[in-house]
Amino acid sequence: MSLSASVSIPVPGSNKSISLPTGLFINNEFVPSVDGLTIQSVNPATEEVICSVSAASEKDISAAVAAARSAFKTTWGKNVTGVERARLINKLADLMERDQQELAELESLDNGKPVRIARDGDIADSIGCLRYYAGWADKIVGQTIEVDNKTKLALTRHDPIGVCGQMYSPLELSYPDVGMESRACFGHGMYYRDETVGNNSTVCPILLHQKLSELVKEAGFPAGVINTVPSLGSIGGAALASHPDVDKVAFTGSTVTGRKIMEAAAKSNLKKVSLELGGKSPHIIFESADLEQAANWAALGILYNNGQDCTAGSRLYVQDTVYDKFMVLLVEKAKTLVVSHGFDERASAGPVVSKTQYERVWNYIESGKSEGAKVVFGGEKRKERGYWVDPTSSSIPISRPEMGGSGRDADMSLFGGITPTMKIVKEEIFGPVLAVAKFSTEEEAIALANETSYGLGAGFHSNDANQCMRVSSALEAGTVWVNQYNILNNNVPFGGKKQSGIGRELGSYALEEYTSVKAIHWNFGEKLDWPF
Ligand code: NAD
Repeated sequence: MSLSASVSIPVPGSNKSISLPTGLFINNEFVPSVDGLTIQSVNPATEEVICSVSAASEKDISAAVAAARSAFKTTWGKNVTGVERARLINKLADLMERDQQELAELESLDNGKPVRIARDGDIADSIGCLRYYAGWADKIVGQTIEVDNKTKLALTRHDPIGVCGQMYSPLELSYPDVGMESRACFGHGMYYRDETVGNNSTVCPILLHQKLSELVKEAGFPAGVINTVPSLGSIGGAALASHPDVDKVAFTGSTVTGRKIMEAAAKSNLKKVSLELGGKSPHIIFESADLEQAANWAALGILYNNGQDCTAGSRLYVQDTVYDKFMVLLVEKAKTLVVSHGFDERASAGPVVSKTQYERVWNYIESGKSEGAKVVFGGEKRKERGYWVDPTSSSIPISRPEMGGSGRDADMSLFGGITPTMKIVKEEIFGPVLAVAKFSTEEEAIALANETSYGLGAGFHSNDANQCMRVSSALEAGTVWVNQYNILNNNVPFGGKKQSGIGRELGSYALEEYTSVKAIHWNFGEKLDWPF
């Protein structure tokens, strides 16, 4: 199918439309796919096709890699100072701030996320993240190391890695987290002299990328520094992971795909790999906790982005002495959260991102029922169009037909009476499905929490300071939240243990992912006797 160079997208509930380029972004130009491939963007709240944009083939990926290599050898990797890099990154942040509402509207149309949450949360966080790494751009320093106090010393220099392929889960970048995606593509790597080739795929993240690429060009980045090449399915990711001229890949997605990326990297040129993978994060409520607050955080933990969140607190363990009281509070939280069309300002969550994800989540709900878990809340489908994962008796319709969706109170399926071997307890669902169990002792809670191959996030609530220290030490996760959940900060590292990933994003720790330390041994006096 041949595409026009740009497309005009009407914004619901207004007279406005947003014009976007449809091409791949390579060498600061929007170009069609060499093989004419295209991807459709579908609105998950209505199941309507919004538009089509170009999709990269392997040849397009190679062109993007060549553009990045050329920029690395000429402009960005060579002649652009840290001060200038910081200026450009800050400029991009300024442009995103200028267009924050529009970015949020595109994001919402593309993946269902409420405009309010995208604008005030993810996009605001992305802007903050860019500014944070702009601050690092001229502060990358090595060390001077004394190796002999008279005739020798050593220096370290932090070299750029080179061409970096950034691959994100489409769910991640489309539905939930412009933030993480922007961190990956527009944050890390750019603060230093690395170039990026961003690949995302298939389900929907497209519109936001087209807009961000326009802003990259407007900010004045040299050609080839940032290239964006969305692709169908595994085409782009597989091509980047196995490309002999890519020096590093950063992947955000499932553990299954992460394994394939690592294998492709090993078989090609042993490129550096960092992986942000899946999770099945435990959330523990101890009897000393402020139960009202704990219920807020537990509900946020599973309902944020409708559970399409790598750190979703999808296994909840509640101390038996407060279980009944806590569950009443939790169900109340779920009932009063509005899940609606993204342009409904009251909405805290929207539909799930795609048909595939919709079917997947419902399969898990059915599996929970058939394996004998007790449905405490939710578990029935809506009848209207859209990829809704809906509650049952507790929903209160608040019809907004002009928005294309009905708007109802919270979507969550809450299962009690679970056992550790059930699929809904072991496997990542990436939807608003919460498995809940009781425990009696702290030891039991820790054992249950750690009984998983994942290790991304974990959270617990307690007002006993000694218990807080003991439990935060014992939980096997890259991030542990105490008396809160799902809070990230640009200054604090984030990443997985066990099969949830390799490497760290955010904070100064992430600098290591995009630099390569070179040691220089310097002799300024010692003579070598011969023969030695
Ligand atoms: P996924 O692994 O199924 O797909 C991600 C992307 O990988 C695809 O869109 C595709 O572009 C690419 N891909 C597919 N096959 C490939 C291959 N063989 N080689 C190279 N690339 C390939 O993930 P998903 O279901 O789209 O996303 C959800 C997953 O992402 C969940 O597991 C979630 O926990 C995880 N996630 C992790 C983090 C984190 O920071 N740890 C953040 C967000 C999402």
